[in-house]
Amino acid sequence: NPRDSLGPYITNPEFFVPKTVIRHNPAFVYIRDLFPKSLVHTLLLPRDFAVMKMHPFDAFENPVLLRVVKAEAEVLKGFVVADLKRQFGEQNGRDWKKDVKIGVHAKPSMNHLHVHVLSRDHYSDKLTTAKHYSSFNSPFFVGLDEFPLAPDDLRRTHPLAFTKGDLICWRCKKNFGNDYATLRKHLVGEFNEWKKEGGGD
Ligand code: 5GP
Ligand code: ZN
Repeated sequence: NPRDSLGPYITNPEFFVPKTVIRHNPAFVYIRDLFPKSLVHTLLLPRDFAVMKMHPFDAFENPVLLRVVKAEAEVLKGFVVADLKRQFGEQNGRDWKKDVKIGVHAKPSMNHLHVHVLSRDHYSDKLTTAKHYSSFNSPFFVGLDEFPLAPDDLRRTHPLAFTKGDLICWRCKKNFGNDYATLRKHLVGEFNEWKKEGGGD
């Protein structure tokens, strides 16, 4: 089942070092997304059998797990920041952390619990559909800092409704309606501005 393809990283992480697995410990595996939807796109995978197949909304009802996952996601964010700095330079102390987002999809496609930690540029040839973009730039993307979710949060019952809104540029907030082709071209220009926002080294 293709929805189970994150499983081997959890059971045999050492096999995937260093290409896909960035780091692993007894409780978590940090990996690179194979189809990155941004310049730097990583995933955090808990290894605990009791939670690794849970929906994130259910798993993060547990405050202890939520706290540990938040702490691990911050560590992974450090790897993403280091990668951005390596590619673009320090830029006079630019706070690259502001350019990294952390969260889950309201309806994940993969069966193993995972948290996305990615740069916010959405500059990638693997980003090919409006759905790809909106799944990271609408309430369908649930920030880890939004947990615990309210019991009546509509994303629990109608997750897909939140991917159907207008396409909005993450950077300038311009509304592209459902015109994904024009947004995609626009994102290239925004990427080139964004990467030098800090003024250069
Ligand atoms: P979801 O939509 O379930 O939140 O996101 C699953 C993520 O897993 C997607 O970003 C997708 O690109 C990524 N992915 C799917 N299959 C594989 C795989 O075999 N290896 C890796 N490293 N990532 C994968
Ligand atoms: Zn824009």
